[in-house]
Amino acid sequence: MGFVYQALPMRVRFAQGALAEIPAEMNHLGLKRVLVLATPEQRDLAERVAAGLGDLAAGVFAEARMHVPAEVARRAGDVAGRLGADGCVAIGGGSTIGLGKAIALRLGLPIIAVPTTYAGSEMTPIWGLTEGGEKRTGRDPKVLPASVVYDPDLTTTLPAGLSVTSAANAMAHAVEALYAPDSSPIISLMAEEGVRALTEAIPGVLADGGAGEPRSVALYGAWLCGACLGATTMSLHHKICHGLGGTLDLPHAPTHTVVLPHVLAYNQDHAPAARAAMSRALGTSGDPAIRLWDLLHDWGAPTSLRELGMRREDIATIVCRTLANPYANPRPVTAEDLTGLLTRAWSGDRPATG
Ligand code: NAD
Repeated sequence: MGFVYQALPMRVRFAQGALAEIPAEMNHLGLKRVLVLATPEQRDLAERVAAGLGDLAAGVFAEARMHVPAEVARRAGDVAGRLGADGCVAIGGGSTIGLGKAIALRLGLPIIAVPTTYAGSEMTPIWGLTEGGEKRTGRDPKVLPASVVYDPDLTTTLPAGLSVTSAANAMAHAVEALYAPDSSPIISLMAEEGVRALTEAIPGVLADGGAGEPRSVALYGAWLCGACLGATTMSLHHKICHGLGGTLDLPHAPTHTVVLPHVLAYNQDHAPAARAAMSRALGTSGDPAIRLWDLLHDWGAPTSLRELGMRREDIATIVCRTLANPYANPRPVTAEDLTGLLTRAWSGDRPATG
């Protein structure tokens, strides 16, 4: 055994009703006037939060969009400056937290992240900005949220479909962390527990529309999976999904959901410890990739790239893009193998194993 582990300075407050503790977090961070960020779809929530904060809120900017368009980030930064904000409260999924990160990158304003999906951006120092159809990403410690407030009650409005695809998006971080070149024993523990918690919780989330215990367990799992993403370097699965999202504009979480069982099937026999951890986490003595595909299918998730709008002829484009730059992966990746993997994912076939 040998590893390097660099802990990230994360502060997490986790409880049902924790949304009410934003003033306590602001006090802890020494913030006096925050700009509240959201998507247009979550504007009402942001306005309620800002009203509750009273003078502690500088205003609301509810124009966050997928993949953080640079023009939106510029405007949001200008608004933060004009209103004299000394920090941001980003309430929403990865798109809103991504906007907070873009502001932090430019102006250095600390972020209080209040995640409402399982995407995990709140746990990472990774930022992204899209301009002229190109998404640039990077790592910078100053975009890591200074404080993260997890309130499971906020996930009760997540539509069932998004609960499932977002959970699979979270699991993808854990899967790739388990065989990452910079993984470590603590990350493996978090990854396995994160997948286990999400696997346990999702049936309850789907059965119970309310704010029951499964919502807490799912968000707890998402937290762990997000921490795995923040601590490690991702491999084949994420390269494929970045191509599908960036080049073909396929939707983020559903794309991860469809591709993950196929990449797990491709890699698992070349990463025995990861395979064993996934078997335990998914509760199977059989093949974990098949078990994952079956679970996602049972939970009503999309299982083909075709149904997400991809054309068959785009497979070759994604193969080229995925092979363009080298990266670590437990199993070497050839154009032929990748074409087979993507063809199965495109068609909605079960993963090829053995
Ligand atoms: P999202 O933030 O785009 O949200 C999708 C939609 O769901 C939005 O309309 C949003 O307002 C709505 N929504 C979110 N939570 C809701 C809730 N509880 N109830 C009702 N509606 C809700 O989706 P996402 O999957 O969370 O994030 C995807 C984006 O995040 C992508 O751009 C991805 O690249 C990025 N991301 C970045 C990182 C990182 O570390 N930088 C990590 C994960 C994802």
